[in-house]
Amino acid sequence: MLLLRNIPKVDKVLEWSDVQVLLDRYPRPVVISAVREVLGLLRGELLGGAGAESLEDNAIAARIAGTLETMNMPGLRRVINGTGVVLHTNLGRAPLAESLRDMMLDAAFGYNTLEFDLETGGRGRRATHVEKLLCQLTGAETAVVVNNNAAAVLLALSSLARNREVVVSRGELVEIGGSFRIPEVMEQSGAILREVGATNRTHPRDYRAALTAETALLLKVHTSNFAVVGFTSEVSTEEMVAIGRDAGVPVMVDAGSGTLLDLSICGLRGEKTIREYLDAGADVVSFSGDKLLGGPQAGIIVGKRSFLDPMKKHPLLRALRLDKVTLATLEGTLRLYRDEREALQRIPILRMLTVPAEELAKRATKAVRRMRRALPVAVTVTARKGFSQVGGGSFPLLEIPTTLLCVAVEGLSAQQLERRLRTRALPIIGRISQGAFLLDLRTLADTEIADIISALQSITVSA
Ligand SMILES: *Cc1c(COP(=O)(O)O)cnc(C)c1O
Repeated sequence: MLLLRNIPKVDKVLEWSDVQVLLDRYPRPVVISAVREVLGLLRGELLGGAGAESLEDNAIAARIAGTLETMNMPGLRRVINGTGVVLHTNLGRAPLAESLRDMMLDAAFGYNTLEFDLETGGRGRRATHVEKLLCQLTGAETAVVVNNNAAAVLLALSSLARNREVVVSRGELVEIGGSFRIPEVMEQSGAILREVGATNRTHPRDYRAALTAETALLLKVHTSNFAVVGFTSEVSTEEMVAIGRDAGVPVMVDAGSGTLLDLSICGLRGEKTIREYLDAGADVVSFSGDKLLGGPQAGIIVGKRSFLDPMKKHPLLRALRLDKVTLATLEGTLRLYRDEREALQRIPILRMLTVPAEELAKRATKAVRRMRRALPVAVTVTARKGFSQVGGGSFPLLEIPTTLLCVAVEGLSAQQLERRLRTRALPIIGRISQGAFLLDLRTLADTEIADIISALQSITVSA
């Protein structure tokens, strides 16, 4: 208990020269709260039996400096994605094309034409540029953009089916990432869910039998993050459209990820493009901006004017609308799609998904050589074959061949290494498989190899 009395007072600590330096770098109230936090922790540690050495002035000052550094780091910050999951929802899904940088900064830091018509000098409509591009790229009559695809589904159902019935196959009542469940979104929108068919099989006659005077919409939902295999039967968009036409009921597709390009050219088979859904006769199609499109978080609705125009006037739109920075980057991303090759080269997620396995193997060989040269013998780096994933609830069963860097540090378990790399100022996120720490070349930029090297250097120095 004697030791507790030896904990210095806050005012005293603020006079130490090591802490005076910190007062030059951080606002005074921030330094004071860091001092209080460290002294508070110290108190607890001394009560728990910590020794006198933790009471030394420079030990305390160093802890305060460390605490301030952590407090000063943005909570939302860049990480290096070595997981090989290209659309990693927890790591922010799609990184934007580098070519959008200036456009994004201009939108954020200056005034702009957000709702201003340069021709008339009067008020313009937000998103007209994006809507025009979407029509060109998908063949749709018109488009609406909102905060994300969940919002797109909510707006569409609220506008098309409030207090009326929406027919959905039991095999398509999906949950995406825990917080988006079709039945729950439907409840929020005021639409009434009319489930048809069984989990594995739904037939055209199931939809037909569900039609009543109360039916507002036939809804098809992309099963995204799971696959129903075996004894299955699904009703195609074309068949649903035929049933809807007969009954005078519109058909909507929640395409989930949604792609503007035929990705089978790069081995990603079986995904209809948004244009194909519209060509099949769907009246309304919604999809995400930050999944396979490779743009910012957004929800995109395309389709017929008669169904989308009311959405543009719906009071919910105001609550779900996009901000100027997102609109700028969405427009920039869509612009890249006017030339397919340009899109494949410039949009990071498309580049990552289409890089050939041989090129990844070559990059791995180079990276291993470079890392071995730069790192002490306590670090072993080898390359091995493995698989990457698309992520973002797209192509759930697809494993794309890749090359992994397998990294080990003498004296550290794979778990310890994983933690050290994850908790740095610039976190490096990898994965552990069968006791080995792995980084997937597919989601790593070549420039990030230098960051990984310096991280491993500092780990071996401190280990
Ligand atoms: C991902 C997904 C959503 C949600 O999209 P967000 O843009 O994340 O809101 C909705 N429906 C389906 C089928 C999806 O795959």
